[in-house]
Amino acid sequence: MMSHSGVGELLMGHECVKINATGQSVNVTASHLKEGKYTERNISCNILVGTDGAASTIRKLAGIELRGEKDLQKLVSVHFLSRDLGQYLLNERPGMLFFIFNTDAIGVLVAHDLKQGEFVLQMPFYPPQQSLDDFSPETCKQLILKLVGQELSDIDVIDIKPWVMHAEVAEKFVSCDNRIILAGDAAHRFPPAGGFGMNTGIQDAHNLAWKIAAFCKGYCTIFDTSYLRNRTAAMAVPATLGLDPTIANSVHQTITDGIGSILPSGLQRAVLDGIFTIGRAQLSEFLLNEKNLLGSSRLAKLRRLFEEGKSLQLQFPAEDLGFRYLEGALIPDSDSVRAQVPPTGRRRDYIPSSDPGSRLPHMNVRMLSNSFSEACISTLDLLPGDKVEFLLFIAPLEKSYHLAVAALKVAEEFKVSVKVCILWPTDTVKGAETRSKTALAPWENYIDVAEAKKSSNSFSWWSMCQMTDKGAILVRPDEHIAWRAKSSIDDDPILEMKRVFSAILKVNI
Ligand SMILES: Cc1cc2nc3c(=O)[nH]c(=O)nc-3n(C[C@H](O)[C@H](O)[C@H](O)COP(=O)(O)OP(=O)(O)OC[C@H]3O[C@@H](n4cnc5c(N)ncnc54)[C@H](O)[C@@H]3O)c2cc1C
Repeated sequence: MMSHSGVGELLMGHECVKINATGQSVNVTASHLKEGKYTERNISCNILVGTDGAASTIRKLAGIELRGEKDLQKLVSVHFLSRDLGQYLLNERPGMLFFIFNTDAIGVLVAHDLKQGEFVLQMPFYPPQQSLDDFSPETCKQLILKLVGQELSDIDVIDIKPWVMHAEVAEKFVSCDNRIILAGDAAHRFPPAGGFGMNTGIQDAHNLAWKIAAFCKGYCTIFDTSYLRNRTAAMAVPATLGLDPTIANSVHQTITDGIGSILPSGLQRAVLDGIFTIGRAQLSEFLLNEKNLLGSSRLAKLRRLFEEGKSLQLQFPAEDLGFRYLEGALIPDSDSVRAQVPPTGRRRDYIPSSDPGSRLPHMNVRMLSNSFSEACISTLDLLPGDKVEFLLFIAPLEKSYHLAVAALKVAEEFKVSVKVCILWPTDTVKGAETRSKTALAPWENYIDVAEAKKSSNSFSWWSMCQMTDKGAILVRPDEHIAWRAKSSIDDDPILEMKRVFSAILKVNI
């Protein structure tokens, strides 16, 4: 919450229970336990960011619906310690994620720290036939032993919690006149396969930070911007083994809501246990071996899945670095055609791009404008990170200097900061400082840098960006490209920069 007083205060143990948004502010009622009694406190703020998790109260109070698929799977998560298990895995099977299927139990073991022996185990959970009481610390210990198939003398169960897997996204992230914003699991809750949950939450915060700062400066409408595939891939292995979780879920549903619901609850549970035991029996060595027709065909299919990389994917360079905003605080190229290919896919490499909305490509550059002239830094580190400042990349050409002067003038009118970065090719850096100083005077917010190419064959900056050095690139404070000109601007540069800043900041002056 950003309170009107602007004073940062962390209120531990406070729960948002009520909100009232007016055109000018949001009034939040927070409840907290004080000396055994719940006490309420009212806080008035400019913006309320709802980061209160998958069951977000703020999302519900703001009346924002979720869209997608609910209740994909119920699971129990068991947090436990065992140095014995850590040592065994370190010596015999080092890894981070273990999908274990055997005749006695099924589970996914996540190794958080093999050296310290810290693990979280995920196991399927089928209420109401099963209850959390069926997962007592002692039962969990026995299940861990069954899964691992090793004697472990030091299992210490710390916590046992049920949770539900969903694949849902809020119908909108911004509401009440830009005053209530959702971020993290409050805005989207994904299956954990692939590890997108926390990552996308951090991305939301990164996207929001500069926009909130700009909002506080008076750019009011800047927020108006507007994964199931990996879970299916993760399930390809159990499905190949004859343990398709969708079938298990249908069986469970038939017992709970269908014909099985007429049975007494004890019998329902016995039927469910019986069916699951038969299911797991498919994993016995008796069936799953090369001599058995079905077993050898399943093993061959499994080998193909792994060889072709069609099981769970855990690295996403294209998504991590190559994700791109398509709308919002940016200006698409005038000749841009909306990408026909879906923006995500399996095992795509990251290709640097200067398309508006993309993350600024990285290149090492040598600073020319200060005394540490030999220092090499990334183009990404040219953005200050602690203030709302745009960065304009140009080459040291006459027309580009004119454009830079226009950008500096117009930005001043818009009351935003712009720094100009003059990117010199490696071989022509003599006299750079004098040239830029003369061309940009009286403006001083600029920096001269030279490309520090890895080798003479490496791409130059402008070719890596797939444009000519006559163009220019304007980068937002969050390192994403707001606008670019692929070639020189022949029209009045002042008019062009006014058009650019008013479109990005959504204001007219
Ligand atoms: C089994 C599992 C494995 C996962 N693995 C990964 C992974 O490998 N990589 C990854 O990126 N993500 C992973 N995730 C997802 C990740 O844990 C979540 O996406 C992330 O924790 C969401 O962060 P958040 O801050 O939005 O919400 P949360 O972490 O849920 O935090 C919400 C906070 O808000 C508080 N709160 C709730 N209601 C209120 C209220 N009314 N008022 C005030 N405070 C409130 C809660 O107490 C909590 O502290 C996994 C999730 C699960 C379940």
